[in-house]
Amino acid sequence: MVPESLDSLRKVFERNPLRIDEAREAGQKVVGHYCLYSPMEMAVAAGAIPVSLCGTRHDSVSRAEEVLPRTLCPLIKSSFGFALLNSCHYLASSDLVVADTTCDGKKKMYELLGRMKEMHILQLPQNQDPETAGPYWEDQFERLRGKMRQKFQVPMTDEDLRRAIKLLNEERRALKNLYDLSKNPRPPYTGLELLEIGFKTSFLPSKKEAVEYLEALYQDGLEMIEEGRSPVAGGAMRLILTGVPLGMGSHKVLKLAEDLGAVVVVSDNCTGYKKTALFMDEEAPPLAEMAARYLKLPCAVMSPNPGRYERLRELAGEFKADGVIDLVWQGCQPFATEAYSVRDFVQKELGLPYLMLETDYSESDLAPLTLRLEAFLSR
Ligand code: SF4
Repeated sequence: MVPESLDSLRKVFERNPLRIDEAREAGQKVVGHYCLYSPMEMAVAAGAIPVSLCGTRHDSVSRAEEVLPRTLCPLIKSSFGFALLNSCHYLASSDLVVADTTCDGKKKMYELLGRMKEMHILQLPQNQDPETAGPYWEDQFERLRGKMRQKFQVPMTDEDLRRAIKLLNEERRALKNLYDLSKNPRPPYTGLELLEIGFKTSFLPSKKEAVEYLEALYQDGLEMIEEGRSPVAGGAMRLILTGVPLGMGSHKVLKLAEDLGAVVVVSDNCTGYKKTALFMDEEAPPLAEMAARYLKLPCAVMSPNPGRYERLRELAGEFKADGVIDLVWQGCQPFATEAYSVRDFVQKELGLPYLMLETDYSESDLAPLTLRLEAFLSR
């Protein structure tokens, strides 16, 4: 049986577009974000509603392919297709879109998107060296603050930023506590449910409300553990899903793996556990603290990207993983190329079975994906 808190989140999410409209009518602004390197604290400090915009549905891809190369990754095409079709309420409601130059495909797409929406682009460094890239990245954050001050006519003082940092720390902590329940031998939530929860809470108009939902889901999860209730069969293979971000609509690999009897105990990606990483010092100079935190986030677009391996080692131990699936979107060069090193690391350093799956958002390859997953899970 689905816990009451999850049922309640599903209901409130259905009304979410309407609630965003109501907040806008009351004068609140909305800031859309692409990619985990774009700091939502800024929008919160400006009194705006931050929402994530990365496209996770297949139905907008074909429209995007009329403009973009078909070989681009589906996340980029889905995001841009939403803009062309004007079919994403969150993008349509955004007064400003904040994005960063994550990868070549994304940054060129943003140039086209900038013809339709007002955007502020953060020029992301390609390495995480605090001495060279750090000051440059902090300057990018200062420019973003300047843009928001001018756009929304708000002071965005250091105190405002500190309050925002505190609130987003709370959200990360609540999300981490919830995800950490999967360290239990019988997790109270499936990987797909946790993906849905992370996805839906990220669109709520108030971060405080998101924290309340996450805490209620955590309490319900604890209760299920205490009572020995779990949607996961005993002995299910415990998987880490690493690689590209996914969301509701692009969840087919996660769902297939769980339909075949495994459980994804942790999603090591931008839409999963990575969101909970790196808490910020709430007393430190806020802009420098934020810039340092965001620059440290591991992603295949960084060269080198040592944090990904450290993280995988920690997660494999903490979540007692039995195997790793590395998901790569077709057309994603950073994650596809890094997969070679990830495979080596997982097999040789962690001693775990590894499977790389390269796919897109369509359902055309469900049969071969199923065959490969069945073979992997039956080892
Ligand atoms: S999945 Fe890869 S290609 Fe797609 S946006 Fe992310 S880094 Fe770029």
